[in-house]
Amino acid sequence: MSIIKLHDLYFKPFISEKEIDRIIQSLTKQVKADLYPNEVPVFVGILNGCFVFAADFIRSYKGDCEVSFVKLASYSGTTSTEKVKNLIGINEDLTNRTVIILEDVIDTGVTLQEIYTIFKDKKLKALKIVTLFFKPDVYKKELPINYIGKNIDDRFIVGYGLDYNELGRNLPSVYQLTTQPKMKNIVLFGPPGAGKGTQADLLKDKYNLVHISTGDVFRFNIKNETELGLLAKKFMDEGDLVPDEVTINMLKAEVEKNADANGFIFDGFPRTESQAIALDEFLSEKGEQINGMVALEVPEDLLVERLLERGKTSGRTDDTDESKIRNRFNEYNTKTAILKDFYQAQGNYYGINGVGSIEDITTRLSKVFDTL
Ligand code: AMP
Repeated sequence: MSIIKLHDLYFKPFISEKEIDRIIQSLTKQVKADLYPNEVPVFVGILNGCFVFAADFIRSYKGDCEVSFVKLASYSGTTSTEKVKNLIGINEDLTNRTVIILEDVIDTGVTLQEIYTIFKDKKLKALKIVTLFFKPDVYKKELPINYIGKNIDDRFIVGYGLDYNELGRNLPSVYQLTTQPKMKNIVLFGPPGAGKGTQADLLKDKYNLVHISTGDVFRFNIKNETELGLLAKKFMDEGDLVPDEVTINMLKAEVEKNADANGFIFDGFPRTESQAIALDEFLSEKGEQINGMVALEVPEDLLVERLLERGKTSGRTDDTDESKIRNRFNEYNTKTAILKDFYQAQGNYYGINGVGSIEDITTRLSKVFDTL
């Protein structure tokens, strides 16, 4: 998941679908446990925001229940206003019933207080409040909240029913307001020997970006006989991928070393789907994102030739033995090539013909870099 833009604002991933699901399972269990065994509660959702939460909540609730909605509006833009407007109320008789209010998020508590006061006059048996999210720092009311899914800080959120000027309600997870991304981050992609290193070297100067080649960082560590180098060596010598955890931690450290960069050209990373997911997460925590994956497309036969040729001078042991080279392609085809789909699904994949002179290919790449 990466940063999204709604109207004029940017939002970064905050609470995943999985986490929301866990929170809801836990809430419904607690609510059920506190009711009499055959009691039929009336769940009342506060529209608009809570329709998604209410739908998931009642499906997770094990037992008979009734469902209703009330509508109040207290939001305009990204800040709560003190004025609560219209109420489209409940008409049924709720005398002696247990009413459980479902809220998506409680911040100042102004809306909630209003609704609570209305229900208080209805001779209920009990009135309880469930909220998916709660902002303890801004809550101004005395009213106790019976069930809280998750406490969050006071930053504007969207998704999972919550909107920013009506957009974002349909997002399946929750996003938090962030600043506009400042970096240009590009994944330079392609099979071994496609020319990523050569092109990255040229493009990093042209676009004032930092070039991170995970292969180079590993080779540097091997040369200096660091712990990381010793660990990576046995995988690299065979043409196998170095384990994800090691590679991801190393990459994060390289990015941190260049915190002021205008952006990065990632060369040789990500090479697996978990690396791609980790990269998205890592960047979005910083309010940054991958602007695009630019791929050099070159037929495999040509690549083997190129690698063997490079092996004569590069000093790279993984470039001299054809079976090691074949294994690197095998790793590429089974673990890395699928990343095309990953970035294509985000609308972020740009394929470039990687056959031709170095200059021609730089020109082709630059055309894409300019648009990112
Ligand atoms: P390269 O210089 O990009 O061709 O990488 C050379 C070798 O370094 C690969 O064959 C792997 O053994 C290792 N390596 C480089 N980048 C990664 C990565 N992202 N994940 C796992 N292994 C990597």
